[in-house]
Amino acid sequence: MQFCQVIVDIAHEEVDRVFTYRIPEGMAIVPGMRVHVPFGRMKRVEGIVIRLEEQCDVPEEKIREIQEPLEDYPAILPQMLDLAEYLHRTSFCAMAQALRLLYPSEMRKGRVTEKKREVAVLTVQPEIREQVRRAQLRAPKRAAVLEALERAEGNEAETAALRRELGECRGALQALARAGFVRLEQREVLRRPYGAMEALSSADPELTAEQKDVLTQLLPAVQTGSGCFLLYGVTGSGKTEVFIRAVRAAAALGKTAIVLVPEIALTPQMVCWFRSRFGEDAAVLHSRLSPGERYDEWRRIRRGEVRVVIGARSAVFAPLERVGLIIVDEEHEQTYQAENVPQYDARDLARRRCENEGATLLLASATPSLRSFALAQRGDLVLLEMPSRVSGRPLPAVHIVDMREELRQGNRSVFSGALLDGLTNCMKAGKQAILFVNRRGYSTFVSCRSCGYTIQCVHCDISMTYHASGNVLRCHYCGREEPVPAVCPECGSRYIRYFGTGTQRVEEEVRRRFPDVPVLRMDNDTTRGKDAHAAILEQFRSGAARILVGTQMIAKGLDFPNVTMVGIVAADAMLKLPDYRSAERSFQLLTQVAGRAGRADTPGEVFLQTYDPDHYAIQTASRQDYRAFYEREMRYRRQALYPPFTVIARLVFESDEDEPGRREAQAAAAEMEAFFDRRTYLKKYLKTLRVLQCPVHRLRDKYRWELVIKMVDQPVCREALGRMSELAAGTAGGCRCVCQINPQSLL
Ligand code: ADP
Ligand code: ZN
Ligand code: ZN
Repeated sequence: MQFCQVIVDIAHEEVDRVFTYRIPEGMAIVPGMRVHVPFGRMKRVEGIVIRLEEQCDVPEEKIREIQEPLEDYPAILPQMLDLAEYLHRTSFCAMAQALRLLYPSEMRKGRVTEKKREVAVLTVQPEIREQVRRAQLRAPKRAAVLEALERAEGNEAETAALRRELGECRGALQALARAGFVRLEQREVLRRPYGAMEALSSADPELTAEQKDVLTQLLPAVQTGSGCFLLYGVTGSGKTEVFIRAVRAAAALGKTAIVLVPEIALTPQMVCWFRSRFGEDAAVLHSRLSPGERYDEWRRIRRGEVRVVIGARSAVFAPLERVGLIIVDEEHEQTYQAENVPQYDARDLARRRCENEGATLLLASATPSLRSFALAQRGDLVLLEMPSRVSGRPLPAVHIVDMREELRQGNRSVFSGALLDGLTNCMKAGKQAILFVNRRGYSTFVSCRSCGYTIQCVHCDISMTYHASGNVLRCHYCGREEPVPAVCPECGSRYIRYFGTGTQRVEEEVRRRFPDVPVLRMDNDTTRGKDAHAAILEQFRSGAARILVGTQMIAKGLDFPNVTMVGIVAADAMLKLPDYRSAERSFQLLTQVAGRAGRADTPGEVFLQTYDPDHYAIQTASRQDYRAFYEREMRYRRQALYPPFTVIARLVFESDEDEPGRREAQAAAAEMEAFFDRRTYLKKYLKTLRVLQCPVHRLRDKYRWELVIKMVDQPVCREALGRMSELAAGTAGGCRCVCQINPQSLL
């Protein structure tokens, strides 16, 4: 007798364990299969088989039977079950939730079906075709069908196409099928995204010395199926080419590869490059696919029809077999961290998957995350470097423009004289320009336009945030409030105000100054439609537009050879956000944006406008000096006990009234204190434990309180995180509570 352990697809902690079922005689069940099972009083629930067992200690009569498998293959590769278990253990989600990441959500409850098309195939031997057709002359439709099929390639055609060509011919087709002259077949159709995308030139460039060097270290690891690497290569150093060669090397060994990108819509070029080199062997997975397309791409992968999968973070779960290489491009991007349950970090999962399946991990960036670079410093990742641009192209020359000086000289427009001159020259030379506007941080902090002074909390090293309701400044970390000053506390100027310049305003200004130059704008407002991103980028690439004004969206991985100038309209907008990562994010963004300039033969020029020209993030970004930034930032993080030195765990309590949240947060704090008191081996890693009003105290009509804990980042601290997650799940008293670990936003 055979038994199996099943996780039922119900995400509730009370059923978050395996249940044993009997496998009926003759039913072929393997681990990873989706099955229907009876569960409690429910007649039929979906579940996933985790393990098979010969025996079982549950009394016979209590065991129920599997009803049927949902597919005749395991939807989840058995080797991926470990990844789900790992996720379940480390992010404290129900096993059912972890498993759901491993197959398209549309497959649950059968919400997606396979698409079929009907094809008519001519079965008459060539020698007697003429004869047969003549015999059908009294039935002109049939004769026409036969003739069409004779002409068609492979002597077959979709019946839908025949109907389009010949008018309604269903009856004729059926008659011909009955007579044995035609065979009607149902064929599966795979819906393909990017079907019409044109391929770029697919010739292989000669590798640069640096690319060769990197590959010499990388490829032997791919061969043995081991190794975790961090490729730090400046913008324009040709990282993509390294990826392509490495993927190809894996393919030559009969292995497959996954390439993760921050967001597919923003990196159409990566897809293009891979499709032009790998054609049908490349699959694309991303959130903008229709459910049908996603399901079909997934099946193509699952069946082993592709060699390389390109996708956003969830592509780390792609059901590829024989994975030899996982690449994470722009590894510093926050999009690799999933914020909703299950919270996961695609970089961590990629690493785990590589270890499980004997594959090589390659993280890559021009501005590595502090965490990854610190790991490389410790030898936990092997550092590979490409310090120069392809074919000796110089990095762009960056001019830091002090906007305080502009103001002193009476210039109150969003553009400095230098930036305008640069733009004018660039247009005269027939080149293209990108103007970058940091929209995040719009009107949130208050700064003096004369001296650059930004109002900061006296208790924290963080800018105060302007709150229109109440017209006050608030510190998002300690809760301190202050009125908005009328004059600058530093220099007495009246030009102190909330900061921020929107894309729209910049676009208008450009049009006013350059009435004859076609301008494009790319931001959340102009990219709502499904293909809006691609359309704008294509217009810019074609040269139909000369200036592109955009937000963060234009910072990533774009390669436009004709762009020689980049203007960064307000470099400090993000720097002053009340977040300990604001310097890191600013550095990354500024470096990446500046890196868009001068990627072909004409050298690039960047104008970086700022009210804080001496800030280390701005200074180091202007020189593309990652190491200098890294050293400086790590000192700050160590002192202030921020990641990567610590892990921040946060419980956020929300309730209709203020009091319950505060009470629950304090109760949780007491719990956690007691928890640490009982565990000296853990307590030594605890740095802070605090209850605070959340920075955004009232959100969507809920009052919010938080318990924030900082611990030295050690594996053993998982235990405390697990306890916090339990507390979150067990919160009552009219409160809702979520547990966040190193959340992206602390608001
Ligand atoms: P990165 O991702 O490191 O910023 P890319 O991969 O976008 O850089 O490469 C920058 C440009 O250099 C691209 O236009 C690419 O086609 C080109 N390139 C890459 N490698 C080579 C090479 N070996 N020879 C010539 N051009 C190359
Ligand atoms: Zn001032
Ligand atoms: Zn403060």
